[in-house]
Amino acid sequence: MTVANIIDDIIGVVGAKGVLTGADVAARPASWLRPEPSRAKAIVRPANTEEVAAIMKLCHAAGQAVIPVGGNTGLVEGATAGEDDILLSLERMNAIESLDETGCTITVQAGVPLHTVQERAADADLMFPVDFGARGSAQIGGAISTNAGGNAVIRYGMMREQVLGLEAVLADGTVVSSMNRLLKNNAGYDLKQLFIGTEGTLGIITRAVLRLRPALRSRNTAFVAVDEYSHVPLLLKSLGSSLGGSLTAFEVLWEDFYDTVVVDRDRHAPPVAAGHPWYVLIEARGGKQEEDAERFQAALEEALEAGLIVDAAFASGAKQREAMWAIRDDIDGLAEILDPVMAFDVSLPIAHTADYVSAVKRRLSERWPDGFRGTSFGHLGDNNLHFLLTVGSKDHGEQREVMEIIYDELKPYRGSISAEHGIGLEKRPFLGITRNDTEVALMRALKQALDPKGLLNPGRIF
Ligand SMILES: Cc1cc2nc3c(=O)[nH]c(=O)nc-3n(C[C@H](O)[C@H](O)[C@H](O)COP(=O)(O)OP(=O)(O)OC[C@H]3O[C@@H](n4cnc5c(N)ncnc54)[C@H](O)[C@@H]3O)c2cc1C
Repeated sequence: MTVANIIDDIIGVVGAKGVLTGADVAARPASWLRPEPSRAKAIVRPANTEEVAAIMKLCHAAGQAVIPVGGNTGLVEGATAGEDDILLSLERMNAIESLDETGCTITVQAGVPLHTVQERAADADLMFPVDFGARGSAQIGGAISTNAGGNAVIRYGMMREQVLGLEAVLADGTVVSSMNRLLKNNAGYDLKQLFIGTEGTLGIITRAVLRLRPALRSRNTAFVAVDEYSHVPLLLKSLGSSLGGSLTAFEVLWEDFYDTVVVDRDRHAPPVAAGHPWYVLIEARGGKQEEDAERFQAALEEALEAGLIVDAAFASGAKQREAMWAIRDDIDGLAEILDPVMAFDVSLPIAHTADYVSAVKRRLSERWPDGFRGTSFGHLGDNNLHFLLTVGSKDHGEQREVMEIIYDELKPYRGSISAEHGIGLEKRPFLGITRNDTEVALMRALKQALDPKGLLNPGRIF
């Protein structure tokens, strides 16, 4: 088998319609952050696990590198292909196989979009709790392989907590089927963990069993303003107690985020007056709307009386709630405004986040006094902070300098260079800031054991 004839051999497995080449490859963007044409040798689109396994056998024999791709909404260049790579897209593997209403599980192929799983669960009066802005395009396989987080991690955890079982194809085409449906199963190694959050470097996820939760019947949302950063963690703690475990989202926006998408551009109606350094989108979910709304209002009144918040707007219905979330989710809008945009995802202890943000912004504005414009925001209840920023330059060297500043400032806090987006190609040079040599050596040993030829997502992570 040679690389030269591998595309023909793959067509033999998936048919001509299952393989895109030339202009069809270039018609797709390289990544969400880099909309320039994709450069892969081919995009192969298997229809089932057997086809994925057959493709991997061919690629293994030929020494052909393969990059799995889902919705291509990842933000660390994890699924960006070079011209010699094959992109293996799960887009045709988009079936929901079954939903168990009693056992509260859903079994899906990896290419199902996140939103479809959420909708199917809701139809059965159940809920899939992982949620984030790219829900319409991001696929379950992509979300598992990046261990995606999102807006409700504070209550339900990340993707890892929702995966009961999965099936993956190894680099040599071996199918590992570990489709467990049980919440408790300590029979030996929990092999699915090898594929969760490992960014497609150890196997291609083809199917999964996901845990569903009972549907929640109440939803209370508020947008509040905070004038002192030390009040942010206190507010989180206070709401945790007063809402008795029903706090589901705690999304903090710095003033520059609010000003950019709400005040300056008039893209959204302001829920509270401008001019505050921090805003928090708070959501609690429970079982009885009327009672829970009373408890929610009382919790926020308590916070107002304690001076933790200085202004608050309650969403009186779905329309107002959606309008509040539209502000938090207006990442596409921000990316347009902050062109050429750079996105960051870090984590550090919540007590130090404001100091960290100030230090980063000070260094960036000193270095790029005219070009720097930035916004910060994040799922702060999970220690997770995002920056969306521009320094007005696409120059690779300058962008590298930005990364160095952002990750260097994490060191005093022993923060993580990736809270939820992963490492991909983009953060690889900085892995040593967060992981020690022994940790990286063990990661390499796992890679060597499962993919000795280094064919799956080569160069990602380390
Ligand atoms: C507007 C917006 C908002 C976002 N918000 C969040 C957020 O709140 N929280 C969060 O965690 N992320 C967020 N993201 C990042 C992104 O959506 C997630 O990382 C998502 O999980 C990626 O899914 P995907 O299907 O698009 O994966 P892709 O981008 O296609 O791939 C991501 C990585 O997973 C690998 N991969 C994809 N499918 C498979 C598979 N089947 N098997 C093995 N490996 C695979 C790829 O090789 C790549 O390394 C956001 C992105 C955008 C654009």
